[in-house]
Amino acid sequence: MKTPPISIVKSVKFKAKPEATTLGFGKYFTDHMFTAKYSVEKGWHQAEVGPYKSFEIDPGASVLHYGQALFEGMKAFKQENEKVVLFRPEFNWHRMVAGADRLCMEAPPKDLFLNGIKELVKIDQEWIPDQPGSLYIRPTLVGTEAFLGVRPSNEMLFFAILSPVSSYYAEGSAPVNIWVETNYLRAAPGGLGATKAAANYAVSLKAALDAKKKGYSQVLWLDFSREYIEEVGTMNVFFVFENEIVTPSLDGTILGGGVRHSVIQLLKLWNLPISERKLKLSEVLEASKNGKLKEAFGTGTAAVISPIGELATESWKINLTNNGQQGELSKKIYDELTGVQYGRREDKLGWLQPL
Ligand SMILES: *Cc1c(COP(=O)(O)O)cnc(C)c1O
Repeated sequence: MKTPPISIVKSVKFKAKPEATTLGFGKYFTDHMFTAKYSVEKGWHQAEVGPYKSFEIDPGASVLHYGQALFEGMKAFKQENEKVVLFRPEFNWHRMVAGADRLCMEAPPKDLFLNGIKELVKIDQEWIPDQPGSLYIRPTLVGTEAFLGVRPSNEMLFFAILSPVSSYYAEGSAPVNIWVETNYLRAAPGGLGATKAAANYAVSLKAALDAKKKGYSQVLWLDFSREYIEEVGTMNVFFVFENEIVTPSLDGTILGGGVRHSVIQLLKLWNLPISERKLKLSEVLEASKNGKLKEAFGTGTAAVISPIGELATESWKINLTNNGQQGELSKKIYDELTGVQYGRREDKLGWLQPL
């Protein structure tokens, strides 16, 4: 597929940049965005980095009715020497390609995805916060054809927007408390669970809200049998047992995270016993009772590594906080990941790409 040239239109209006202490997650957007259009007749066309602005969209557009919407989440970091790097952007492109196939959408070609994002980050690089902040990148693909029959849209809009962020959780990297969700289901076999389809987040809101009311910041998702562990909120999950570290295998209902993949790479590099396998909730409870459960943590671009403090259901509760301290392994992984991202440690696994 031919990649269109990317035109660059500089904004004439610039927003005030927020204070580092008020950033939070995803509250502010930068001055520019990247957009590109696709139609069956023209292929990809009109690729532009231009001023951040509202879209004009036909009320009949497929995304507004049948939810053809897919996104990605990735980050750019400003290193100490002011060098700007992207963390594993090709991983995100591959995942968007796979998700687009599942949703019968046309993903942007790799060059368009990577170059569009790089040009965008370049033009807005003054927005990248210093450590421990970063620039969150949200590439999104939606069906825009106006047509009320239920079939794949013949027109797509791909866009990317940027948000300067600090930590995802109010707690920072302090332990988060997790509710085990036994009522609602995030993903069913054969469904969309392995993709970053917008629909997966619509389906998850109710459970997250109910958990919040009980005082928990996220839910632990189980599979359709409610026996096996899948992931936590919008993060993959790792359990550290006495002699094994386990993360659930990707069987089609779990979103395969880039941070999950990177953590597995690190654990292998460090010769630690990491298994990707099916993991029963009852196994975790049992291990906890026997003193064999050492740590648990979530992984994701937004939160990086998020230690789990408490895991709770109606009938039991596991407490994993070591006197409020982050677990040893999750701390070691966090230090390595962020060390590479900010350029303090060698990028042994080739994760970083310059602009
Ligand atoms: C995005 C996401 C993850 C984490 O993926 P990363 O690529 O590591 O950010 C995990 N689970 C769900 C449901 C997600 O949406």
